[in-house]
Amino acid sequence: MAVALYDVYLSADVVEKAQTHFRTAASRGKEAMGLLLGSAFVWNGNPYAVAERYVTASNDATAVSVRFSREAFSDLSKKLNGFRVVGWTHSHPDYGCFLSSTDVATQESFFSEDFHFAFVVDPVRGEKKCFKVRNGQSVPVGFAVIRRKR
Ligand SMILES: [Zn+2]
Repeated sequence: MAVALYDVYLSADVVEKAQTHFRTAASRGKEAMGLLLGSAFVWNGNPYAVAERYVTASNDATAVSVRFSREAFSDLSKKLNGFRVVGWTHSHPDYGCFLSSTDVATQESFFSEDFHFAFVVDPVRGEKKCFKVRNGQSVPVGFAVIRRKR
């Protein structure tokens, strides 16, 4: 049986919460960011991650850069609730989805596990992409948005 395997699975709820946060920030001319919590797995030797919770906190943001404040990191550490950090997300309002050199450095410094990914959203253009960093280069990775039956 053929099984399509993506590097990243994002719950629809996570995508909606991040997009709402990013659209609100973009309306004020700001970027925003958050952490993606969930679970990491290996299938046939390939790591993949499932993001099930979106958490954010106060951001130090300008139009073209965003970082978590020191206080935000301590807030976020309280919101793990048994999940692990599988990736991070941030917005690029109206300049497209890619990893900047700063984003690559952030990924390498804080998200260095093989399942860690960066989810970049352009809330103005309506684009979203996932990336990993390999050998100092950003590489787009396949992702699927999953919706649970209720
Ligand atoms: Zn960026």
